[in-house]
Amino acid sequence: MHDKSKFDVAIVGGGLAGICAAIELLDQGLKIAIIDRDSESNFGGLAMKSLGGMTLVNTPVQRLNGIHDSPEIALRDWHACAHFAETDHWPRQWAELYVNRSVDDIYNWLKPRGIRFFPIPHWVERGEYGDGNSLPRYHIIWGTGQHLMLTLINELKHHANSSNIEYLFDHKVEHILTTNQKISGLQGRFEKTGLAFEIEAPVVLVASGGINGDIDRVKREWDKSWGKPPQHLLNGAHKFADGTLHDAVAKIDGKVTHLHHMWNYAAGIHHPQPGIPKEGLSLIPPKSALWLDATGKRFGPHPLVTGFDTHLICKRIAQDPYGYSWQVLNWKIALKEIAVSGAESNTAFRDRRIMQLARDIFLGNHKLLEYLVNECEDVVTADSLEELVGKMNELNSASQTVGKGTVDLENVKQAIQRYDAQIDLGKEFHNDDQLRRIAQVRQWRGDRSRTCKFAKIMEKKSLPLVAFREFIVSRKSMGGIQTDLESRVLANNGQAIPGLYAAGEAAGFGGGGSNGLKSLEGTFISNCILNARMATRSIGGQPLNP
Ligand SMILES: Cc1cc2nc3c(=O)[nH]c(=O)nc-3n(C[C@H](O)[C@H](O)[C@H](O)COP(=O)(O)OP(=O)(O)OC[C@H]3O[C@@H](n4cnc5c(N)ncnc54)[C@H](O)[C@@H]3O)c2cc1C
Repeated sequence: MHDKSKFDVAIVGGGLAGICAAIELLDQGLKIAIIDRDSESNFGGLAMKSLGGMTLVNTPVQRLNGIHDSPEIALRDWHACAHFAETDHWPRQWAELYVNRSVDDIYNWLKPRGIRFFPIPHWVERGEYGDGNSLPRYHIIWGTGQHLMLTLINELKHHANSSNIEYLFDHKVEHILTTNQKISGLQGRFEKTGLAFEIEAPVVLVASGGINGDIDRVKREWDKSWGKPPQHLLNGAHKFADGTLHDAVAKIDGKVTHLHHMWNYAAGIHHPQPGIPKEGLSLIPPKSALWLDATGKRFGPHPLVTGFDTHLICKRIAQDPYGYSWQVLNWKIALKEIAVSGAESNTAFRDRRIMQLARDIFLGNHKLLEYLVNECEDVVTADSLEELVGKMNELNSASQTVGKGTVDLENVKQAIQRYDAQIDLGKEFHNDDQLRRIAQVRQWRGDRSRTCKFAKIMEKKSLPLVAFREFIVSRKSMGGIQTDLESRVLANNGQAIPGLYAAGEAAGFGGGGSNGLKSLEGTFISNCILNARMATRSIGGQPLNP
């Protein structure tokens, strides 16, 4: 039996990046430890909760759907989103690596492990003006991120070299140790007792997630060009994603970059059973709902419609004086279009129940809608507009710290009447950007089944009306610890720090910000795998030279 505090490699973080690396390091016969601040019951990190959507380029699934994708097209799309600066050398390199290796290093790594994807790729983040995914390439894991993580954890536990791994849960790592300018281990405290511990290891892989679970830090790092952050932000990230390891890396001269680049979502509602303070559920906002500001005016002149540019929607809402929004729709629209991001609410996907999925798509997801209406404080319903607006305002006055605006009935009435009147004119005469976008979205079969065909809000047979009060929900850090293509952490002078690696959200998904300003979406869990694999090849002395 090896010394319990001495390892070849110490991995900080038992999320997807850490677990993926652990599997590959066990393959190499190394003695390793996964050290995680969380308890064993939460092993797997955020990916366990994730929907399991991955941007993949030129896959068999795409080809079966007649989609002719290529690394060149994907890279062009990536750059259109990323807005890289000239100086973003490593983020650019990681973007290129990703589009070239997504099939070999991600899709083909998952396939023998029995991971399958929904047969139709979704078309997300098309870009407000085409500056996004020019093709559908968002592949959702059949079973969501939960199935992925249970599969990988099972592999880890039953690995032929499983006696070479130690799991140290409830251990908060605080410092990276160096001796004679070489990495020599880790230091931290037991989460429950506060007592100190130390671990010896010549190689450390930081896979401790991002910073977006610390709302105060999110506010501090907020993109200055956006102005002040909204007063009320919800938390949709990991409770321990507070950047402790980012700081530890910076303390030994590792470079941390682009922390103001974040992938947050605009339609967060308070979780009815929060596991962490201000926990938010992130709605996938219905495209046929009207998106209104805090006073009930429709956002304009370009209306907000999801599926094109998440970053822009967040920016517009964050810059609104009230910093939150409303979506108004009716029951029928909600049944067809409402969804919540993640494994928790997508039970048909998560539990791989095809009949339930078909029922949800064709008859509507009654269970989810009823849950949201009955359990969530930010959802109100009513049979008339007057009653609805009354309830929206009641909700605001009942909240202590949030929802300071007053919804004006006339504003809401005007917005709905104008929109419904457009629909009444018939599609030949539609001259509303939301309707134009809905028409376009419905052309792709992956979206048609989840998008109503020009649905009026005040349609009598579709009542009651529903309103969601929505806040920005903090989710992913797109900046982080800067790494080269071997996932080696770079010092401020650009040289790799021998023995120190970073992967996943901690590394800004590669290079300290491989997505740049905006993501094509689904570039997170997939990059955890790619980052981890590049690290383990390097640790094993066989770096891939792309
Ligand atoms: C609801 C939801 C849905 C999502 N859906 C998608 C999706 O469809 N597609 C996609 O690409 N991405 C998605 N994501 C994002 C994705 O899940 C994460 O970006 C990814 O899983 C991060 O993995 P990671 O291994 O880098 O970090 P994490 O999963 O955050 O794991 C980090 C681990 O490090 C531990 N840790 C932190 N600090 C310390 C410390 N000081 N000492 C010791 N341990 C520490 C934590 O306890 C944690 O276990 C989703 C996220 C959520 C929450």
